[in-house]
Order: sequence, then C-alpha cells, then structure tokens
Amino acid sequence: MNTVVIGLQWGDEGKGKIVTYLSRYYDCVVRYCGGSNAGHTVDYGDFKIVHHLIPSADGRFKKNMYIGVGVVIDLDVLLRELEQLNNLFPESSTLLRVCKQSHLVLPFYRELDGRIDAARNEPVGTTRRGIGLCYANRALRFGLRLEDFEDDQTVKERLRELAKLWNLELSIETVLEHLREAYERISHLLIDNVEAFENLKNKNLLFEGTQGVLLDVDVGTYPFVTSTNCSSSGVQSGFGYPIKIDKVIGVTKAYTTRVGEGPFPTELKGEEGERIRKLGGEYGATTGRPRRCGWLDFVLLRYAVKVSGCDELIVTKADILKNFEKIAVCVAYEVDGIKVHELKNLKDIHRVKPVYEEMEGWKDINSRAFTKFLKKMEQEVGVRISYVSTGSKVDEIIAL
Ligand code: GDP
Repeated sequence: MNTVVIGLQWGDEGKGKIVTYLSRYYDCVVRYCGGSNAGHTVDYGDFKIVHHLIPSADGRFKKNMYIGVGVVIDLDVLLRELEQLNNLFPESSTLLRVCKQSHLVLPFYRELDGRIDAARNEPVGTTRRGIGLCYANRALRFGLRLEDFEDDQTVKERLRELAKLWNLELSIETVLEHLREAYERISHLLIDNVEAFENLKNKNLLFEGTQGVLLDVDVGTYPFVTSTNCSSSGVQSGFGYPIKIDKVIGVTKAYTTRVGEGPFPTELKGEEGERIRKLGGEYGATTGRPRRCGWLDFVLLRYAVKVSGCDELIVTKADILKNFEKIAVCVAYEVDGIKVHELKNLKDIHRVKPVYEEMEGWKDINSRAFTKFLKKMEQEVGVRISYVSTGSKVDEIIAL
C-alpha cells in the first residue's frame, strides 16, 4: 500500500506530525519534493525535532527513509539534521538513503534567491533558502548533482559556469573544498533512483509532501507559490520511478494560515487573527515569520481536494479553537455580486469575498459542537475524515 500525505492549505498543516504517526504502519517514508524550505516540527513529548530534509519517520520505530531525486539538498542542513537524528535515534539514522541524482543547493544560492525576490514588483516572500534558484538552475541545465562529486573537475567547471551565469565572484577552490568535505560525510548514504526502486518496489511506502496544494507551482496560487509540484502530482517524478499511489491523505487545520505574500480570502487581520496566531503558535519553523491566520475556507478545501485527488482528510489543531465561543467557516465566495461554491481555478482568488456561516465553538473534542463541525466539513468537502489530531504530540491523535 502506497500512501501520500499532503497539506491541503498553504503549508504548516502539521504534516510532519501526521507522517510521524502514520510511519509505524509503513516500511519506508519518502520525501519527493522541496528542500530545506520545509520545516516539519515533530513533538515527541520530551523533545521536538524539526525536519527540513530528512523524512519525518518515527525514530522509535526504526523505519527506512529515502530522499528522492525531486528533493534539492543543502548539505549543511542535511549534516546538521543527521547529527541530530544520530544523537536521538542512532539506529534509525543508519536507515536513511539519498538519491545521488538529487540537486545541490549551493551556499551562494541563498543570497541570489533574495536578489531575485527583490527584483519583483511584488515579492512572493520566499524562505530565501535558495530552493527556487536550485530548481531554476536544474531546469536551465546548470545544476550540480550529488553524483557529480565523483569527479572534482565536473564540479569546478559547473561552479565556473554558475559564476558566469549569475555574475558572481566565486572562489571556486573554497566552495569546492567546503562541498567536498560535506559530501564525503554523506556519500555512504547515496543510491541511484533505479536502486531505490528495486529496494522499495514491494514495500509499503509513505510519501511525505511538503508545503501544501495551494503552494503547488502549477495548481496553487501562482505566482505566490513554491517552486515544485508539492501536491500529490509530484510523487512520480520526485521518486524517480513510476509508482502506484493507493491513497492520498490531505491534512488540514481547523482554521487557515499562510506564510508570506499572496491572496488569502478568509484572513483575519484584527484581534481574532492575533488570538489564533498566539494560541496556535503560528510562527514559521524555518523562518520564524508570523503566519497570517484566518477561518477555515471550504471553497479552497474543495478545490485542493479535487486537484490533488485526495481520498481522506486528517484535521489538525482543532484544540486551538476550543475556547472560542463562536467560530466561522467560509462556505462560498461572492464574485462580482454572484455567489459561487466552487472555483474552477484560482485566477480570481484575490478578488473574492468570503461568505461565512457561524458555528458554535467547542470546549473539547468530545462535545456535540465539535462533532457538528466535523460533519459539516465532511459534507462541504465530500471526503471522509479519518483522524483528528488532538494536540501537538505525535500520539495525540484519534482515529474516527
Ligand atoms: P508541517 O510543516 O505541515 O509539518 O507543519 P509545521 O511543523 O510547520 O506546524 C505544525 C505545528 O503544529 C507543529 O509544531 C506541530 O507539533 C503542531 N501540531 C500538529 N498538530 C497539532 C494539533 O492537533 N494540535 C496542536 N496544538 N498542535 C499541533
């Protein structure tokens, strides 16, 4: 059974926790896209881990982990994370494999990322981790892959080309030395995509999405998106081999958040938004930026479920709303005075007006009001809810 877990909103839905919880039922957890712009915080109770690159498999269950060809690798971040994993779960840390055809995020990409965003009329607000630039260089055939380190000459030539392309003064030897040292420390983890497929073809795989459907480069709120197909459609290319997906699980919060710029119809700019932000600890795990907060938006959720082929929902962070007397959910939009329940695409998203329904808040998740909220969600979205996450810790979750 192969399952993919994706975020149905603009990321930060709690995918890391969900993947960690579900990983006990699978043989291997696979990352298929994005880079260290992802930040999946996993709360084990006694300690927390933020996964930027290493798949969020539960370290207590000693599961295989694989970073597929669609992921771009910042070696410094990978090494830091490996060290952390090795300290906490030494046996698990030996079970990681990385695709050797993966592209590298080079140290100078970060600064270039900032330069690119600054050149726009309206910055998209990237995490400035050099991820977009790495994918751009890959597409331009200027990328540097892990396997290129089998020969220093190839690396040097590519660095020279990159310096020319981006008009940089690079000390090729210094950059090479730094990268080579880091590469040597992870080279024993490298396998190619065919070997990965051979190893994993009869196993149960759990694919871990990053960001969320609304940030997908094609079906998200372009141009305010990330640089990959972080929705379920990215699995095949990011794994590097065609693979049958049996189930797509979409994770959504009981409210909505967004980091960075871009349209957000249900955003709460006043006190209520601040209250959700504070209670929910809505600050970016990668950047520390305050997240914009708002009510749950069923129109966007319906859209995300549709374009991702989502089969099941998991709801997170319902506990954050538990002391709200009343909450609201967006059931439709008004566009040019006309009420619509569905959006064919997201082109007009910046000029819609949300139509809300008020609902009773809940004191706890066993209350009638909370059951009503879940029923409403299933009805509005047309997909069943399989789990509700009841707190930040991995095991705080109930199956429905
Ligand atoms: P991800 O990138 O989708 O994994 O999400 P983040 O790591 O950016 O943010 C999710 C945060 O919410 C993490 O700190 C989780 O520990 C926490 N979290 C996940 N589910 C719940 C939940 O149901 N309730 C509460 N209170 N926190 C949760």
